[in-house]
Amino acid sequence: MMNQWEYDKDYPVVFIDKDFNILSLNRRAVQEYGEVVGEKCYRVFNGYETPCDENSPYVCPIKVLQNSGLRNFTGVYIFNRKGKKYISLTVRKEGDIFCQEQVELDKDRPDIVDIKSVLSNLYEGIIVLDQRGKVKIINRKFLSIFRIRESADYFIEKDINEVKHLFPESIRDIFEREEFPENEELVVHYSDKYLIIKKVSINSCHKLWSFIEKKDVDLGDEIFRILLETTPVGIFLQCNGRFMYVNPTMSSILETTPGELIGTNVYRYIYPDDRPKVSEVVRRRKKGERFIERYTIRVVTGTGKIRWVEITSETIMFKGKYCGIGSVIDITDRKKLEENLRKLATVDQLTGIYNRYAFEKFLEEEINRAERYGSSFSIIMFDIDNFKDVNDMYGHQVGDRILKELVNIVRSSIRKSDIFARWGGEEFMILVPIKEKQDAYRIAEKIREKIEKHRFDNVGKITVSIGVSFYKKGDSIKTIIRRADTALYQAKKSGKNMTVVAD
Ligand code: GH3
Ligand code: MG
Ligand code: MG
Repeated sequence: MMNQWEYDKDYPVVFIDKDFNILSLNRRAVQEYGEVVGEKCYRVFNGYETPCDENSPYVCPIKVLQNSGLRNFTGVYIFNRKGKKYISLTVRKEGDIFCQEQVELDKDRPDIVDIKSVLSNLYEGIIVLDQRGKVKIINRKFLSIFRIRESADYFIEKDINEVKHLFPESIRDIFEREEFPENEELVVHYSDKYLIIKKVSINSCHKLWSFIEKKDVDLGDEIFRILLETTPVGIFLQCNGRFMYVNPTMSSILETTPGELIGTNVYRYIYPDDRPKVSEVVRRRKKGERFIERYTIRVVTGTGKIRWVEITSETIMFKGKYCGIGSVIDITDRKKLEENLRKLATVDQLTGIYNRYAFEKFLEEEINRAERYGSSFSIIMFDIDNFKDVNDMYGHQVGDRILKELVNIVRSSIRKSDIFARWGGEEFMILVPIKEKQDAYRIAEKIREKIEKHRFDNVGKITVSIGVSFYKKGDSIKTIIRRADTALYQAKKSGKNMTVVAD
């Protein structure tokens, strides 16, 4: 493991495994520490009982190398085994073994480099937080990536919440998110670049966030980037049900920020009833099935709004895993319009029951059915008595409210299978599939009595007059309605608040 060249070096060289066990030492290291093969390096070098204790302000180089994909790490450590010493450590990763070279530094030498300046020269932006969210380390690159004017010192020992307003919105909230996956690379747009973000636990109490800037990452060239950022279509990449990439439109559809979305479980934003639909797609993608799927679901935005979206997605291979890439179009307005048009066509705007047009359609169908199968039915037509007076006395708005109230009363006294419609003004129709004329009369009377007994808000008693007609062979829409209308006229003429059944 150790070659002659390393063995003869005039400073200590130590090989350590990933669990901090010392594997071998050169001559110089043995002079310094004795025969300590097999012991834990932190105990031998620093007298610590744990690899990095809670209050340690330092990054654990071995942990960093293990988790970050870097090959080298240089930093300055204060070793306290034999008094306070400044040691410059260079740690090199070779598979699972770490070669640690220790050069003792003269404290008074002007070129002494502390860990912060070493970190400053890293090509990645680094911020280290302890378990309470206090900033322990923030390097210059981090500040320059995000164009933050404050110096690194300003942030040290501050709560992340106190300073996060200085960070751009796209990353502001990610630090507190527990579910942010460790060691996975996530991609966020920032300004004209991409950021590769990674969270690494360097010990049980410190988390290191690394931000690598890329101008032209795997996701494509300049044209592709501009398209992604300007398209009105939301674009996402999900692996294993987590957002790995989102474009700005995607986050605005969900009324949140890319920083909030990246790494989050996609189901968090999907309307509960529509989750099974999505999980089925995610499951098949994960298995590597290749298919294009277009589906419509509801999402719940960051502010709790429900939106309809149309998603088209496909399987892609991303960093060695099968993932889903897709586009998202907000179709909420279209859905609303469709819904309104559909309702406008059949539903009365004031009362919510069928309109005249819809009633005629149902009546036509019912007549056909009666002709073909010999079924029978009745229509009950009623008109409010002296409704003009109500309007004159209480105003049109109260009149409207009475109409709604009356509709609710009638609706609760008929069956679901009966067709109840507003014929116009204060005239209504009910189509009831029954066999006996007598039954129609009974139903009509029940409705009339119920209305008569009801006390309407402010107005009090309201009555209706009813005309009933029964289907006859050879009837058309016109003839059956005319008979009901005539019966109704009879009821009005005979003193109102009564039911008349046509012959
Ligand atoms: P009668 O029942 O004896 O025929 O007397 P009436 O006062 O009801 O007279 P008629 O049925 O001919 O007139 C209907 C009145 O209903 C006219 C209008 O003022 C009122 N009306 C019709 N549609 C609406 C509506 O949508 N809202 C309100 N508030 N009033 C309406
Ligand atoms: Mg009328
Ligand atoms: Mg009337």
